[in-house]
Amino acid sequence: MESKEKHEELLLRDTVVRVDLSAIAENMRLIAEMCGPDVAIMPVIKANGYGHGAVGIAPTLMEAGATYLAVATLTEALELREAYPDYPLFILGHTPDRLAELVVKNNITQTLVSLAQARALSAAAVKANATVKVHLKVDTGFHRLGIYDEEELYQMTQLPGLEVEGIFSHLALTNEEEDWKQYNLFTDMIARLEARGCSFRYQHIADSISLVDYPDFRMNMVRPGALVFGLRGFHVGYLPVKQCISFESRISQIHEIKAGEGVGYDYLWRAPKDTRIGTMPFGYADGYPRNMRDKGYVTIHGVKCPVLGVICMDQCVVDLSEVPQAKEGDVGIIYGNGENNTMSIEEASKLAGSNKNEIVARILARPPRVYDK
Ligand SMILES: *Cc1c(COP(=O)(O)O)cnc(C)c1O
Repeated sequence: MESKEKHEELLLRDTVVRVDLSAIAENMRLIAEMCGPDVAIMPVIKANGYGHGAVGIAPTLMEAGATYLAVATLTEALELREAYPDYPLFILGHTPDRLAELVVKNNITQTLVSLAQARALSAAAVKANATVKVHLKVDTGFHRLGIYDEEELYQMTQLPGLEVEGIFSHLALTNEEEDWKQYNLFTDMIARLEARGCSFRYQHIADSISLVDYPDFRMNMVRPGALVFGLRGFHVGYLPVKQCISFESRISQIHEIKAGEGVGYDYLWRAPKDTRIGTMPFGYADGYPRNMRDKGYVTIHGVKCPVLGVICMDQCVVDLSEVPQAKEGDVGIIYGNGENNTMSIEEASKLAGSNKNEIVARILARPPRVYDK
C-alpha cells in the first residue's frame, strides 16, 4: 500500500512500536464470544494501552463493542477525552478530591473508594449542575482501594449529583479458595445493599486471568487488560488470543572492532576475536530493561544477535557475527511474537526478571507507534 510506505518514510525515528489492530479486534471478538452477549466488556488501556498507544487503539476497541475504555488515572482519561469527545471513559484508580471538577467537566465515570471522596465528587457535580457516573469499589481483601462497610457504601448511593451505575471489586488471585472467598464477600455485599433498595447496573470483579479461569466471576461486566493484547496469564481455561505488538529498530552504524577492544561504558564487553558490531538506536529511555545486559538479543534477518555491554539510555550495540549480510538501515526486532527467532514478550519478561504487563507497559511514549490494520 502506497500510503503505508509513505507513512513509514515519514516516521521520525527508526525505533518504532508496531501494533496489529486486526489482532486486537480478533482478541476482543474471542473475549466477547467466550463471555456471551450478557457480559459487557470494559477493556483496560491504562499505561498508554499497555504500551500499544491508548489513543491509537481506542477506536478499534470501541468498534469491537467495548462498553467503556478503562484507565488508571485522570491524566490518562483526559488524553483520551481530548481525542474522543464521545467515548465512555472509566477511571479505575483514585482521583484526588481537588480534581473532582475535571472528572465532572469531562464526563468521565469515576471509581469511588470512600464516602469522603463521594461527597467531594457529589459537591463538584451539584456545583456544575451535572450528574457524574460512578462505580463503588468494594475492598474484599486486596486492601488497595475501596471499603467493606455496608453503611458507608449505602450512604455513597444517596448523594445528589451522582449516578451510581456500578459496583466492583478486584481479586488478589492468591489461590482458588481465596478467590472464591473474595467473590463471595463481594456478592454478599451487593445483596445487602440491594436489600436496602440499591441497584447496580454493572457488577464486576474479573480481570484477564479470572475471566478465563472462572466463568462464574464474569458477572455482567469484565475488565480485561493483558488479554486484549494477547498476553496470556490464565491457567485453567484457555483462549487463543494473539500478541499484537512488535518493537523494532534499525541498525544506525556498523563497526569492525579488533580482538581485545571494548564496547560501551566501562568496556564491560570486550571482543574475544575481531568482531562486526551494529549500533541500534534504542535504550532504557525507550523502556528496554537495562538488566537485559548479557541476556538480551535483537533479531536481524532471523538471527539472534546478542546485546553487547551495557544498555545505554538511547542506544545499544549488538553482535553481528552471525549475520554477515547485515547492513546499516536493516531492521532488528527487539520484541516480536516469538516466531522466527524473535523474543516474545513472555521471554523478555523472564530474561528481565519481570512480568509481561511490565515489559509492555514500560515501553515509553518516545518510540512512534505504527498501526497496521
Ligand atoms: C489493571 C487492572 C485490570 C486489568 O488487569 P489485567 O490483568 O491486565 O487484565 C482490571 N482491573 C483493575 C482494577 C486493574 O487495575
